This record gives sequence, C-alpha cells and structure tokens, in this order.
Amino acid sequence: MTDKYILAIDQGTTSSRAIVFNHEGLIVSVGQKEHEQIFPKPGWVEHNPIEVWENIREVVAEALAKAQVNKDNIAAVGVTNQRETAVVWNKETGQPVYNAIVWQDTRTLEIITALAGGDLDANGEKYKAKVGLPLATYFSGPKIKWVLDNVPGARADAEAGKLLFGNMDTWVIWNLTGGPNGGVHVTDVSNASRTMLMDLHTLQWDPQIAADMTIPLSMLPAIKASSEIYGYGRPEGLLTGVPVAGDLGDQQAATFGQACFEVGAAKNTYGTGCFMLMNTGKDPVPSKNGLLTTLCYKIGDQAPVYALEGSIAVTGSLVQWFRDNLKIIASAPEIEDLAKEVKDNGGAYFVPAFSGLFAPYWKPTARGAIVGLTRYVTKAHLARAVLEATAFQTREVLDAMEADSGVKLAELKVDGGMIANETLMQFQADQVGVPVIAPVVAETTALGAAYAAGIAVGYWNGEQDVIDNWAEAKRWLPQADEAERGRQYRNWKKAVTKTLDWVDADVVE
Ligand code: ADP
Repeated sequence: MTDKYILAIDQGTTSSRAIVFNHEGLIVSVGQKEHEQIFPKPGWVEHNPIEVWENIREVVAEALAKAQVNKDNIAAVGVTNQRETAVVWNKETGQPVYNAIVWQDTRTLEIITALAGGDLDANGEKYKAKVGLPLATYFSGPKIKWVLDNVPGARADAEAGKLLFGNMDTWVIWNLTGGPNGGVHVTDVSNASRTMLMDLHTLQWDPQIAADMTIPLSMLPAIKASSEIYGYGRPEGLLTGVPVAGDLGDQQAATFGQACFEVGAAKNTYGTGCFMLMNTGKDPVPSKNGLLTTLCYKIGDQAPVYALEGSIAVTGSLVQWFRDNLKIIASAPEIEDLAKEVKDNGGAYFVPAFSGLFAPYWKPTARGAIVGLTRYVTKAHLARAVLEATAFQTREVLDAMEADSGVKLAELKVDGGMIANETLMQFQADQVGVPVIAPVVAETTALGAAYAAGIAVGYWNGEQDVIDNWAEAKRWLPQADEAERGRQYRNWKKAVTKTLDWVDADVVE
C-alpha cells in the first residue's frame, strides 16, 4: 500500500483544492486555486461552474505533480464541497443554464416566504420535521426553483428531462466520471440533506416538497452513501480508471476527519462561515433551539449517522470584508496584529448579519450592524470586534447544541483557516469555557473526504483508522474572569437584537 495514496478534491466557497494524502492521513501535496466571486446585486452570490471545473482539473494536476505521482498511484478519489450551492445544467451539452447560486445568496427570500404562506415567522418550520431544516435562503431547493422560474426555457427543458441539478459535489463527480459521456449523476446523504428536498428518515427525495417547489424529480441525483464507489474517472473527465468513492458535504467531511464518531463528539470549523456539528448517532434529533438536523455520514450499507448543526454564515468572510471593503488591513492575518494593539473591544460589537442571521436565529431579514460606537473606538477596537463576533456566534451555537442534545461538551475540536489566529482562539476558549483543541492535520475537510474514499476501497479499514491517525497539535484553555465573560456575552446578545427585522417586505434582497 505504500506507493498508493488517496486524492481529495475540496471544492470550497473561495477556492478549489486537491490534496494527496498518505496512509497515515498526512498531507503529501496540495494544489489550490481561487475562483471568482460574482456579486451581481446586493445579496446575490454566484460562481461560474465551468471555471470551477477547470480549476479542479488544474489543481488535481498540480497536486499529483508536486507529489511526483500519477493516477496509477491513486487508490481512490473523494470529493467534498461547499454545500447548498446549486448548479443546473444540460445533460447533453454539459453546459450550466445559469451560474451556480451560492449558499450565501439571499435571492430566494421571496420564494421561501411564499412557501411559508407569506409568514416566515409563523410557518418557517413547515418542512422541519421531515427535512430537519427551517425555510431559509441557505438551502438548495428554492434556488433550483429560482433558476427554473427565471432562466428562459429552463422550465420546459427541465420538464423534458434535459436538465440536471446538483450541488457542487454532484457537478464535480458528474464531470469526473465523463460528463455528457456517461457521467454518473449522484449525491450523498450529507449533501442531499441540505437541499430541503430529502426526507431525513427514508433518505429519499420527498415528492410533495419537490412538487411544492415545482421541481421535476427527474432533475435530482441518485442519493448514495458517503463512502462507496460511485463510478470511475473517465478519459473525458480526469483520473481515468480511478474509483470515485467518497462524497461528503464539507462540514460533515470535517466532522469525519476530526474523528467525531461517538455520540456527543463535536467540531467547529472556522472558514468563510463557522459550522459546528455534533454527532447524535443513529437517530435524527429534532432541534428546539435553532439548530439543523442533518445527515452526518453513511458508510456503505451501514446505518446512517445523524448530526445537529449550528451554521453561522459570516465569520472569516467578515475578516475578508474588513480587508477588501474597508481596506483597513492588507491580509487576513494582519487583523490579529491590529486587534492586539488594544486590550478589549472598547465597547464596540459587530454583528455580521450580511446574509441575515443563521443559527440559532434564522432571521433572513436581519442585516449587519456595529453598535456601541463612541469617539473612543479605533480601528483596532473594530478589529477585535470582528474577531469576537466569530467567538460569540460560536458560543450561541454551542449553548443551543448543549440544550438540544443534553450533552455538556467537555472540549471543542476546531479547524479551518481562522484557527491560525491565536487571539481569536484564546478568546473562543474564554467564551465557551472549555478547552479548544486543534489537530495536527488542519485540513480536516479534505481529510474526511479522503477517509470516506479510502474506506470504500479498503485502503483504510474503517473509523478506527481515522481515530488512530488523529493527533492533537495545540490546545487553548479558558482563562477569563467569569463576570467579564458574562458581561461581554450579554452585550453581544443585545447587539444582535439591533439587527433584526431590518429588511422591509418591499426590498426582498
Ligand atoms: P473556506 O474553506 O471557507 O474557503 P478557509 O478554512 O480556507 O475557508 O479559511 C479562510 C478564511 O479564514 C477566510 O475567510 C479568511 O478571511 C480567514 N482567515 C485566514 N487567516 C486568518 C487569520 N489569521 N485571522 C483571521 N481570519 C483569518
């Protein structure tokens, strides 16, 4: 097995990565390329699926070249992806009918409001018992409806069976396995559970919800396990002959890569947004506190494993906004130097409700605010407020998770780009009051997809190999004064109330 590796393709929100892993679960090489973020209107976020697929071809070649291996050294490929980002394409030409509508996009507010009979506050949980999700602009189903309603000719072509829908995992696997020349049209349970169209209990598409959203069932991919052979790389695609054998939404992949296999084990990933998932075992746990009930993973024909999830839309992307829109810093890591110039936030709190508020509020009509401003506040205080926003939002989700699951977290496993920020991680430990722990392999998302693929082909035996390979790199211990910690959190909660109900009904974006 030593000359064999697993390749993971991580199709993320800002970039696509290909990573070659060895049998110890360590990174051998990485290829990475960013793609364009397209913002046609306030609230709209799109990606060009063709650009993304071309980038994947490049980063796979780059990763293989850097590792000095070729496809014959790759035992299997696993795919992980930004979830809920929806693509609709023509199965004969392989051309998308519209750009991918990204998970952060809020254009479907009108659609979801109509699905709720005009009253999201009263009927926002209409489908929750079946799909585990509240009506929100976040999920894919309403995005498909938007494409069919707004792209000329799309509905007729969809009804004639010419169009396919996929989240990014489906788009990538279809192209990998031949595209118009026999590409397989599949998704896994974790990605399917983010569409609002899959029944959590049967793991099948729900015909009634699809009908409510006027989506032909023929467009929807076959729902598979997260770890099984879906097809093989084809000459028209990439990696000819290599089994494509893993598919997990990025957050579920990170949960897998962090070896959260026991009931109550949880991780939080700090990237564009923050996503905390807790393994809840073989049964879906309904949330009473604003969390999502979601599929965690399914290995082959074993029983599916469920999770509770707290999704936070804006965390690392607030740092990007601070950098790109305000130009107060030139690079993301600089925010830490600036924040360290002051000892606290100077009274300023920044609630980044740029896409409304996700967990635990689910308020699509909230918009961002900086509150508590006085003439004392400097850009250094704002830098702190930006970082603290991530930690406060995480604490809210953790509180909800403990309330829903009845499990008191003993520690929080973390990963993602923002954990390089020591100031943030220390503040996070202070706020949640439990140790915050980072693993040696921080690329847990790609790692999880690699494990799913490797387990499917027998490269690894199962979850125990993942547990054995997991190693701790660093931990941050809570140090804050209890009264101060409580005062800050209370102010944060008050700041959140100032952002609610900002968007009026006549401004749907
Ligand atoms: P994704 O996978 O969602 O694209 P990553 O895990 O690569 O995200 O993390 C990138 C995010 O982390 C960016 O939004 C960036 O602004 C933020 N980030 C990166 N480094 C730092 C840092 N040192 N301090 C704060 N934020 C950071």
